[in-house]
Amino acid sequence: MTTEFALNEQLLEKINSFSRKKLTEQEVYCFPVILCDNEIDRDGERFSVAALGRLAKLFIGKTGIFDHDAKGSNQSARIFDTAVMQDEKRITKAGEVYTCLTAKAYMVRTGSNADLIAEIDGGIKKEVSVSCSVKRKKCSVCGAVKCRHVKGQTYGGRICHTILDDPDDAYEWSFVAVPAQVGAGVSKSVCMEAADDTESTENIAEMAVREQLISDIMRKSWLGDPTVSLKGFREYLTTLTTEKLYKVKQDTDKAHENAVFDDSPCLTGTKAADRKDGNDSYNSYKI
Ligand SMILES: [Zn+2]
Repeated sequence: MTTEFALNEQLLEKINSFSRKKLTEQEVYCFPVILCDNEIDRDGERFSVAALGRLAKLFIGKTGIFDHDAKGSNQSARIFDTAVMQDEKRITKAGEVYTCLTAKAYMVRTGSNADLIAEIDGGIKKEVSVSCSVKRKKCSVCGAVKCRHVKGQTYGGRICHTILDDPDDAYEWSFVAVPAQVGAGVSKSVCMEAADDTESTENIAEMAVREQLISDIMRKSWLGDPTVSLKGFREYLTTLTTEKLYKVKQDTDKAHENAVFDDSPCLTGTKAADRKDGNDSYNSYKI
């Protein structure tokens, strides 16, 4: 499965349906992004496959911003095409075929965004967050909107998580640059290697969730306070219970949102679908 594409006349026509002035191939820069998928994320949430199909329609024409320069007038891109793709070889932690919403985005080339385009071309580490609203958030164990199941705990060998269903609007998407050294210190390979060992599946799922929580907390803490000692902090986090990690993550998210997104009102109540293209599981999706 690949998201790479070459600009052709048909795609240029789609781009021009959003543009007042007719753009030529030389005037636009296009790149692929994976917006979100059906894998359980660090918040213990995932989209249903049906939701991804609905979002494919909702994200057409939506603007993406680059958070390191959100105020720059030319630092934005627009989605002009979307597709839901499946990777039959990859099974999610919830036991489904991996399914993701991919998009093609374009920027109009200007003198001021040449550096940004070079960064995207160079494959800098980054994550894509999407903002959308969903009508229903249901429990993966019983399907109810409100129930007694606890997110992050395992029931019958499957980790309890929230399924985001029935999206009714998509607002925007954004690129978040990730410090390379933090990403490099995080390993999710454990759950990939031992995935067929049924006896330890529960532990592995739990470990994967913990690993995601720790990685997220560390990354966001680093952004907030670059002086923080990564190794010591990581060691401390590994001693916490999963429930406590969820709590720490909530606090870190809050602090992070206030620090980074305080001028983006659209990002409240959003779903962040995080991507790291340096990560094992996303290597094939070079953005
Ligand atoms: Zn339930």
